[in-house]
Amino acid sequence: MNEKKSGFDIMELIRKVLFTDFVKGLVITFTYNVSPSTVITIKYPDEEKWIPYRRFRGAHTLNRDANGRELCVACELCAKACPTRCITVVPEEDNTGRGISDRVAKVWKVDLVRCLFCGYCEDACPTRALRLGRDYELACHDLHCTVKYRDGLLLPQSVPEGFEGGVIARSRLINTPDGIEVAADLRESKKRVI
Ligand code: SF4
Ligand code: SF4
Repeated sequence: MNEKKSGFDIMELIRKVLFTDFVKGLVITFTYNVSPSTVITIKYPDEEKWIPYRRFRGAHTLNRDANGRELCVACELCAKACPTRCITVVPEEDNTGRGISDRVAKVWKVDLVRCLFCGYCEDACPTRALRLGRDYELACHDLHCTVKYRDGLLLPQSVPEGFEGGVIARSRLINTPDGIEVAADLRESKKRVI
């Protein structure tokens, strides 16, 4: 038993004398330095922006049907399914054809500070009105801006649902009344897939 212990110690000693662990570390570092496929730094936001995969769960979107009618029927199932109770839905009657039924949302809001992005609300929605989109740039300077309302969520999304994602696209900065937005050029063919 003592011999076994002694053999192990000798190997350890040889490794230390020859700096094998140190050399192994240098080889890994060198490999990362010369291989373009291992570059993981994204030049965000000035040059590049990551477009998440379709299954990504980012900020909520409310959607319309092909005729532009709101799919949300204000059934409140999303609010009931939410484990953090961060969705508020107030229904109202509407006969103008705004929605697919006479019951539409007067108020639909979500507090993203309390949201876990678990997707339970999306699963509970019977009309597929509610989807978690791919918008992940949610930082802001004011707690009020973390509450998103129906009108904003009904706007067209910057990344179409059919776009596969999982890529880094070329980005450009756009001045908007709410601050600077980072827009991705989805036509950019030179994309890194991550
Ligand atoms: S993603 Fe989860 S936590 Fe966020 S609103 Fe939906 S159910 Fe609630
Ligand atoms: S988003 Fe879906 S689940 Fe939520 S109130 Fe509207 S229809 Fe119902």
